[in-house]
Amino acid sequence: MKILISDDENHNRMLMEKILSPYGMCDLVENGLEAVEAFELSLADGEPYDFICLDIMMPEMDGQEALRRIRALERDQNIDESDEAVIFMVTALNTEDQVVQAFFRGGCTDYLAKPVTRDKVLDKMRQYNLIDG
Ligand SMILES: [Mg+2]
Repeated sequence: MKILISDDENHNRMLMEKILSPYGMCDLVENGLEAVEAFELSLADGEPYDFICLDIMMPEMDGQEALRRIRALERDQNIDESDEAVIFMVTALNTEDQVVQAFFRGGCTDYLAKPVTRDKVLDKMRQYNLIDG
């Protein structure tokens, strides 16, 4: 599994990498722009990311905009819905309020509320069959 982790805070990137590295190759980027660029490259290589974690609050380009652009790239490439990347938004919000709903409309798969823990991440990954068990 190819995994992309996008977060502007080093501590958060390292934590996600620690949790996810047993399950696949992790690439780490620091903002939404880099995330979109990395996704474009992976498409060009014919091996798009399977799983992407996007922090919402990032400089240069936030997670919402990166999400929209990544989904647009998938549409441009006529990628089947079943082959779309699983994308989790990482949010400081801990309730499913209107803002979070907007993220769902933006095409994310799900969201993770901070603080992120190993159990939270793995539970959600199981829900989307990224890992067994
Ligand atoms: Mg952030």
